[in-house]
Amino acid sequence: MLDRASRALFHFLAQSTVLKKAASRYGMRRPGSFARRFIAGETVEEAIEAVRALEARHLRHTLDLLGESVTSLDRAAVATRQYLDLLNAVVDAGIERNISLKLTQLGLDVDTATAVDNLRKILERAEPAGFFVRVDMEGSAHTEATIDIFETLWQHGSRQIGIVLQSALRRSELDLQRVNALGARVRLVKGAYREPGAIAYQQKAEVDAAYARMLKVLLTDGRYPAIATHDPAMIDLAREWARDHQVAADRFEFQMLYGVRRDLQASLVAAGYQVRVYVPFGREWFPYFMRRLGERPANLMFVLRAVVGERPHPGSRL
Ligand SMILES: Cc1cc2nc3c(=O)[nH]c(=O)nc-3n(C[C@H](O)[C@H](O)[C@H](O)COP(=O)(O)OP(=O)(O)OC[C@H]3O[C@@H](n4cnc5c(N)ncnc54)[C@H](O)[C@@H]3O)c2cc1C
Repeated sequence: MLDRASRALFHFLAQSTVLKKAASRYGMRRPGSFARRFIAGETVEEAIEAVRALEARHLRHTLDLLGESVTSLDRAAVATRQYLDLLNAVVDAGIERNISLKLTQLGLDVDTATAVDNLRKILERAEPAGFFVRVDMEGSAHTEATIDIFETLWQHGSRQIGIVLQSALRRSELDLQRVNALGARVRLVKGAYREPGAIAYQQKAEVDAAYARMLKVLLTDGRYPAIATHDPAMIDLAREWARDHQVAADRFEFQMLYGVRRDLQASLVAAGYQVRVYVPFGREWFPYFMRRLGERPANLMFVLRAVVGERPHPGSRL
């Protein structure tokens, strides 16, 4: 109940332009600013620096240039160019070649064909350079289109792409069969979006139960699945299931978000598991940040402490 209410509240606040303006101005200003706990920085250089720090702790990464739901083809073209620049920067930096992206950032809400074209442009450069490209899953209005586009690209020969399925959606277990039939890589998540009861489980216990069922199918039949969660119960289940079904630790990976449960990330690495951290960066961090707050209201205390801890400059009006 609280879970739903808090998501709804933060979803509502995420629409506030005043809050967005204030947060954008102060959230990333200094090394200790509140949004930096969850966002690696606003520039590619900062993101690469964050990745190097993760690599030093034997963590893998996937880089995500923040920005979603663009409303013009010009913005989609800009995002595409930024992703192409990101590919170059990653190659130059010599770090692992792994990115995540959202189709609405490439124009899906404006024109599907253009979004697909933009994705193709990115893949044309990414695939020969050995990148793995994960297509994130967005709200349910985009589920069918995202899977369709993914399937089409797969059928046209793209093999270094992966998709995300959300256990919160009632349809996802069928989608899992569809994606497993392709032999494609799945990142399994619970789902970050507020969805209606007709299409999504509303109780945490139901979402968790679906996650557990999908996790087992993926570990047994999936291709190098990513178990993306911070939930210790799901992580323990994955470890037990893998052990009992002789799924070696190099046949799947755990994934977590930048700044979330860093203790758990480290203990899994120490136990011999592969852990990949989702590293978001860029100027458009507000909606992502608000989703993280909505998932765990305790994060709000962390943010408030950081805000209070920041001494305002004379004349500042936050
Ligand atoms: C690598 C990765 C990629 C993702 N990609 C997508 C995607 O493409 N599409 C999508 O819809 N969702 C995505 N998500 C988000 C996901 O759907 C969930 O919203 C998010 O992971 C929280 O769910 P949980 O599985 O951690 O479990 P929950 O049941 O929400 O939380 C379990 C425990 O994890 C900890 N925790 C969870 N969230 C936080 C937080 N924000 N801050 C601090 N602690 C926290 C708490 O201890 C909590 O008790 C992604 C998540 C990860 C880890």
